[in-house]
Amino acid sequence: NTPARDRLRIAIQKSGRLADPARALLTSCGLSWRESRDRLFCYGESLPVDLLLVRDDDIPGLIAEGVCDLGIVGRNVLLEQGYDRVVNGNPPAFREWRALGFGGCRLALAVPDGWDWQGPEQLAGKRIATSYPASLTRWLAEQGIDAKVVLLSGSVEIAPRLGQADAICDLVSSGATLAANQLKPVTTLLESEAVLAGPAEPLDATRGELADLLLRRLDGALRIRHSKLLLFQASRRVLPDLLPLLPDAEAPTVMRLDDNDDLALQALCHGAVTWQRLEELKRAGARGLMVLPVEGMLA
Ligand code: ATP
Ligand code: MG
Repeated sequence: NTPARDRLRIAIQKSGRLADPARALLTSCGLSWRESRDRLFCYGESLPVDLLLVRDDDIPGLIAEGVCDLGIVGRNVLLEQGYDRVVNGNPPAFREWRALGFGGCRLALAVPDGWDWQGPEQLAGKRIATSYPASLTRWLAEQGIDAKVVLLSGSVEIAPRLGQADAICDLVSSGATLAANQLKPVTTLLESEAVLAGPAEPLDATRGELADLLLRRLDGALRIRHSKLLLFQASRRVLPDLLPLLPDAEAPTVMRLDDNDDLALQALCHGAVTWQRLEELKRAGARGLMVLPVEGMLA
């Protein structure tokens, strides 16, 4: 029951870990915006796709309410709020559309360094501090463990030292914060990364078409993110030696150079093209190796 819109609206984090990479990814899909003065709303110029800059926690709710169509948010936040909706008897309303490959971290259970960790049973009757109560509650239920969930909105890692909790469940990337607080991660509840979130139900026709267009560009951008175009020459007889050295390449394009056995090859490689790989190819008979960046791709 929101008024019909013919522009697509995407919510991203205003500032924080996901803000810059989210914007860069959308820019690589050809989107550009005219900044508004308050920078909460950015009007799309190249396409009718506007940005809303918000706190990451608000993104799933904005999609659920139909205020925004899509959002870029951590899977941890999306699942937490999704579980919370289920517990409260609300329909799903949003879901993960694409994993985006940045903002990687995990939701982990951590206990004081001194604990001799045997397994989740050890948590029975303990207090666990977290900002992810729905995810933790769900996990505890799956493990069949009765523990007390202590909800803290921040600084979860100092709760054990303050005597507020016995263990914690928090986001971890390097583990340095845990170590600094004499805690150790013992089990992972969830592997997270930034995701494109969208509504559980299809969008209406106009915005659906815009979203499809964006998804096609996004898939292209994600595919070529680590891709390089490799150009080289080789004689036909060394081809059997060369091709096994390109396991992550799409079927190379092969062009005949002259009446001899000389070929020019071009291969799109999806893995890292390192110096070592180039040297191996050269040893196997490749000549004139050249590595080029890939700017765009539409399959
Ligand atoms: P906001 O002001 O938008 O609410 P925030 O403080 O909740 O910001 P950030 O700390 O910027 O959020 O984290 C955003 C997301 O980045 C997290 O939800 C998570 O998906 C991801 N992330 C990646 N690594 C980490 C990490 N080490 N700690 C916390 N979040 C991480
Ligand atoms: Mg937040």
